Amino acid sequence: MYTTELSKYSAKADLSQTSRILVVEDEELIREMLVVALEREGYEIITAADGRAAVEFLKSCESNSGESPFDLVVLDLMLPQINGLDICRLLRHQGNAVAILMLSAKGSETDRVIGLEVGADDYLTKPFSMRELVARCRALLRRQRLSTLPLIPVLKYKEISLNPQECRVLVRGKEVNLSPKEFRLLELFMSYARRVWSREQLLDHVWGPDFVGDSKTVDVHIRWLREKLEQDPSHPEYIVTVRGFGYRFG
Ligand code: CA
Repeated sequence: MYTTELSKYSAKADLSQTSRILVVEDEELIREMLVVALEREGYEIITAADGRAAVEFLKSCESNSGESPFDLVVLDLMLPQINGLDICRLLRHQGNAVAILMLSAKGSETDRVIGLEVGADDYLTKPFSMRELVARCRALLRRQRLSTLPLIPVLKYKEISLNPQECRVLVRGKEVNLSPKEFRLLELFMSYARRVWSREQLLDHVWGPDFVGDSKTVDVHIRWLREKLEQDPSHPEYIVTVRGFGYRFG
């Protein structure tokens, strides 16, 4: 009971929105079991009982919107009308990159290899435990999600590099610890090198429009940043004061 609750929690925790799974399986009992196990994880499930229904369903969804309406397809290999291998080939041929978990009653290595060769991402042999299936689905969905996240480039200027993904800053090859506000201030500066910012603009972008307080806050943070970044904080080369206007980076 405890483990079920725990797995339910972790499945929800790493999903910012509900993942949609298409289950293609002709054996009713297995199909029902898959639906129950995956719905319990919080996923949205759509089913198809044969190959043709699956292909037609995928086609109709595709014509409505350009992108795949599913995050994962759980695809049985032996299906009436159109088999799983052909569906997989078809999807990949159309350039559809949806994650595919193939299921098969055949346990031979050849089937596994063919399944992966036609573009399945993972392969599970029947009989399998529902726990195993859920774990594989979760891993595929996580991988799918990570691969669609845009990579934010590392910002570099002279001897400073700032990695927005890892929230890390290196100065002359050494890591420096910045507070969240200092980090966001530096990230803004480095994103627009040489642009002059007024204190009010910096307050707006880093502290937000709801911030109540005066612009001296900016000066204080700039002083702290300089102490961490500059070789000589009294003669800054990175964060420069522009008299009468504000600050500039570089
Ligand atoms: Ca089957």
